[in-house]
Amino acid sequence: MNNIYDLYFSEIESFLKDEGEPSFRAKQIWEGLYQHRYSSWEEFSSSPKPLRQKLESHFSITSLIKVNSVFSTDLQTEKILFQLKDSNYIESVLLRKDNRLTLCISTQSGCPVGCIFCATGNLGFKRNLSSGEIIEQVIFIMKALEPNEEKLTNIVLMGMGEPFLNYDNTISAITKLNDANSLNIGARRITISTIGIIDRIKQFSEKELQINLSVSLHAPNDLLRQQFVPIAKKYPLRELIAACRSYFDRTNRRITFEYVMIKGINDSPILAFELVKLLRGLNCHLNLIPLNLTSHFMGKPSDTSTIREFGKILLEKGIATSIRDSQGSDVQAGCGQLAGKIIQKQH
Ligand code: SF4
Repeated sequence: MNNIYDLYFSEIESFLKDEGEPSFRAKQIWEGLYQHRYSSWEEFSSSPKPLRQKLESHFSITSLIKVNSVFSTDLQTEKILFQLKDSNYIESVLLRKDNRLTLCISTQSGCPVGCIFCATGNLGFKRNLSSGEIIEQVIFIMKALEPNEEKLTNIVLMGMGEPFLNYDNTISAITKLNDANSLNIGARRITISTIGIIDRIKQFSEKELQINLSVSLHAPNDLLRQQFVPIAKKYPLRELIAACRSYFDRTNRRITFEYVMIKGINDSPILAFELVKLLRGLNCHLNLIPLNLTSHFMGKPSDTSTIREFGKILLEKGIATSIRDSQGSDVQAGCGQLAGKIIQKQH
C-alpha cells in the first residue's frame, strides 16, 4: 500500500481525477495531512465516507511505529526508535537547546557509507526511506509536541543514512517540509548533512535553495579521511571543497564542516594547520565534535585540552570554529546506537 505522504499535491489531484472525485477535495486532504495532521482516514470528516474508504484502500497514513524512546539524564535530548512497515528500524533525535527545538531525522535505514566510528555504518545498509517515511518522522514529533504547545524550530537531516544517496526522496521530503501549504518550515531552518557526495552537492546547488549544507570532513587530507570514510576514495577533498565553494556562490549560505575528534588520530596541530590550508578563503564554520563512543570502534575522543588547542589554531588563522558538546551522549545520541541494540537482541 502506498504512503500518502509520498505524494505531491498534484499527485493527489490526479488520483482524485482518476476516481471521478472533484478536485477541491485535494485541498481538504492536504490540509488534513499537513495542517491538522490527522492520523486516521476516519478523521477526514470534511470528505464524504465513500472517498475516505477509497483513500483507506489505496494509501496508508501512518507507517512508523514508535518502539522505544530514551532521554538523556538532563532530559534535553530524546532519542526515538521507529519500526518501519517492513520491520526495519530508524531513529530520530529531538534536541532542546536554548530556545531551539531541533529534530534530527533519518533518510535511510542503516547506511551504505560505513564510516568506521559510526554505529549506523556498522549496521550496514538496509534500504532508502521513501519521502513519506522521512516526512512522517517530523509529523509524528509535531503531534507529540502539540499538547504542550511546543513547536519544532529546526530540522536536520543528520540521522541514519546519507541523504544524498537517497537524493530524489530527500528532495521531495524537503520540498514538502518547506512548502508554505505543507509544513512551512523555513529553508534556513533546514540542514542537510552529507559525507560529501560531490555530484549531488553540485546538483543540489543548482536549485539555489536557502537550505543549510553541512559536510562531514573528519580529516584534512584524502589519505587519512579514507581510513575513516571508505566512500571518500570516490570523492577527493579538493573536488569536495570546490563543490562547497560553488554551493556558497549559488546560495550565499555559509557551509558548516563537521570534524569528529579522535584521540591521537586526527587531532594533531600539524593536521590543524593542514585544515587551515584546505578551508582558507571559504565562507564556512567548523564544528569540532568529540568522538561518540560506540562498542565496535576502539578509538577514543580527543582530550578537551587537545580539542581546544586544535580549535585555537584554526581560530587564529581565521577559520570560524566551535567545539560542539556531544549533547545527549548518555542517551546514545550518535545515530544507529539504539537501533543497533534492538537488532543485536533479535539475533
Ligand atoms: S556517519 Fe553518517 S554517513 Fe557515515 S556511516 Fe554514519 S550515518 Fe552513514
